[in-house]
Amino acid sequence: MKFNTKTIHGGQKPEEATGSVMPPVFLTSTFAQSSPGNHKGYAYGRGTNPTRTALENSFAAIENGTHGFAFASGMAAIDCVLRLLKPGDEVIAGDDLYGGTYRMFTQLFQKYGLEFSYVDMDDVKNVSDAITQKTKLIWIETPTNPLMKIADIESISSSVKEVNSNIIVAVDNTFATPYLQKPLDLGADIVMHSATKYLGGHSDLLMGALMVKDEKLAKEIHFIQFAAGAIAAPMDSFLALRGIKTLHIRMQRHCENGKAVAKFLKNHPKVGEVYYPGFKDHPNHEVATKQMKDFGGMVSFRLKDQSKEVAFQFLENTQIFTLAESLGGVESLVNHPVTMSHGSIPEKERLKVGITDSLIRLSVGIEDIEDLLADLEFALNT
Ligand SMILES: *Cc1c(COP(=O)(O)O)cnc(C)c1O
Repeated sequence: MKFNTKTIHGGQKPEEATGSVMPPVFLTSTFAQSSPGNHKGYAYGRGTNPTRTALENSFAAIENGTHGFAFASGMAAIDCVLRLLKPGDEVIAGDDLYGGTYRMFTQLFQKYGLEFSYVDMDDVKNVSDAITQKTKLIWIETPTNPLMKIADIESISSSVKEVNSNIIVAVDNTFATPYLQKPLDLGADIVMHSATKYLGGHSDLLMGALMVKDEKLAKEIHFIQFAAGAIAAPMDSFLALRGIKTLHIRMQRHCENGKAVAKFLKNHPKVGEVYYPGFKDHPNHEVATKQMKDFGGMVSFRLKDQSKEVAFQFLENTQIFTLAESLGGVESLVNHPVTMSHGSIPEKERLKVGITDSLIRLSVGIEDIEDLLADLEFALNT
């Protein structure tokens, strides 16, 4: 199956008892057994639930993996990946990460003896130079949140595996989605999603996903998912599965609108830098073109006026772009990284990578582009 077909049919079949085309929402915590240990593959909802299984099969299919896992949130999925490690192990991560990921690394897992180093993944060499005997995991985000930096998944994966094939390469694919790039095909071992964003696509649920193509890794992840218990609920699983069925057409429009918004901002006299991997002068445009089908719906930019007041004015002025955390839904959202998504990053670290008061992040939705541009024009001029 090709990708668009997979979003609808991947890993799915009509339910056996009734032929129901969509999987029923199995709102049950437990399953009857005919004699001790004798059940129909489902024993207790933390281990497996048929609605979640249907979604997990879809997760695996759309990322060209063999196994998918659904968690209560994106953070719960990252938490699961880190639990594959033990004290003393080292993680190399990108230096521009989702704020919650950085918070989990520095404020939770460092406490339990994991070590983290942060490198600019623009250059593959920075990653291979940072590898030590203790390195067990490479954590890649691409495009990054909020600066839209691009890491070359294929080159990083192959150069890491050359040094030590046991090092796990994981990619947070939330921004790109498998419509644009498939990290497992590019040599990564684990794909992670905040399915809260584009996979769900309708801002009506919180969920995390992991996809793998290795049996041993799948076993370990399933064990942690079951033992730690941060599973996705049946109703949310149903909603996410429904969302994925339109992922390809939503992404197509997100990409079109994202491109138009990026161009509009680039030509606007009140706007400074625009961060969008689709521009030829983006530092890693070539890599983005190589590994992504298109450039997505996320665009960040800086106002020429550097003051917090002018940024706040803009953020309060938009009407269609709703000022809210999150991204990837059908509706357009605007975010102020300093006070919102990246508020948990210490000021010193934020300034080092360029997350300043004048930086604004847009999640461009699938509304009519004329309305979106008019909204931005209005907000920039009042
Ligand atoms: C939102 C987000 C997360 C965290 O996911 P939740 O579903 O909010 O827990 C992780 N990575 C990226 C890139 C995100 O945008």
